Amino acid sequence: MRSRLNAGLVEKFMPGGQMMITDFVENFPGFPGGIHGPELSDAMEKQARSLGLEIMNAHCISVDFSGEEKVLHMDSGEIRARTVILCPGATPRRLGVHGEGRLTGKGVSYCATCDGAFFRDKEIAVVGGGNTAIQDAVFLTRFAEKVTIIHRRNSLRATKILQERAFKNPKVEMAWDSIVKEIQGENKVEGLVLEDVLDHSQRILAVEGVFVLIGTHPNTEFLKGHVVLDPEGYVMTNEEMETSVKGVYAAGDCRHKTLRQMVTAASDGAIAAVAAEQYLESLGDREL
Ligand code: NAP
Repeated sequence: MRSRLNAGLVEKFMPGGQMMITDFVENFPGFPGGIHGPELSDAMEKQARSLGLEIMNAHCISVDFSGEEKVLHMDSGEIRARTVILCPGATPRRLGVHGEGRLTGKGVSYCATCDGAFFRDKEIAVVGGGNTAIQDAVFLTRFAEKVTIIHRRNSLRATKILQERAFKNPKVEMAWDSIVKEIQGENKVEGLVLEDVLDHSQRILAVEGVFVLIGTHPNTEFLKGHVVLDPEGYVMTNEEMETSVKGVYAAGDCRHKTLRQMVTAASDGAIAAVAAEQYLESLGDREL
């Protein structure tokens, strides 16, 4: 926007994405005491709007990047642009076990900040060993009586500082080398069938809620066949954030990269925006 280009942002739900379901952000520069995810998102939106950004609510169904003019087929019509920056983000991964689909919203959750308060004084489980699982497990101890972290290995992927917080929290218990085979319950979660990956023995863990926090998969279905994706579906880009299609860029969690954080997403966005501007200049046309 500061380059005085005619730019618009198309958003499916509300700006912020996964930031909106992040309780507390401690590693975005400029906030020594940390900041709540929705608060940071709101500040970013205000800043962008104050520079004149138009935000449209629409869902992109498919794209046509074959011509110089890029076409986005939205649920509400068509958008044509000279250049596009793709930021569709990522969605929480499912476990894929029996009971998960049926009991989603009935004790199975993918968002600790959204649903944590429903589990006041209850015994619950968190599945996963990454930053999200461990940070959210500690967050959930604000409500729950006990939080069992179920991890498929015997060491966590999460950063050490988060691990330390979890290990010293008296409400957190670890179920190492364990996987969830089934989520049990009639109309709400009543327990989990856990399998020990070493000796294959099974046991029931009685819980009233389970938070599945095992990473994400990219929201790039609509891009298949239009830009090059890696085997997991993440968008391949070069250092300028340019995809396999000239004039089409990608930024944030949808991109193939090693570190997915808000700060790296912001960095991708800055690089992509400058590259897109240079691309427009190369076309000799500053209208989007
Ligand atoms: P992640 O880093 O990909 O970790 C996923 C965890 O779930 C891993 O421990 C993995 O086990 C486990 N897992 C994956 N598939 C599984 C399955 N089918 N069954 C059981 N367990 C499974 O995902 P994330 O924690 O959501 O983090 C996503 C990205 O956001 C990462 O880049 C992360 O660093 C970033 N993030 C950063 C912060 C922060 O900086 N404070 C906070 C949240 C997220 P293995 O370890 O065995 O692979």
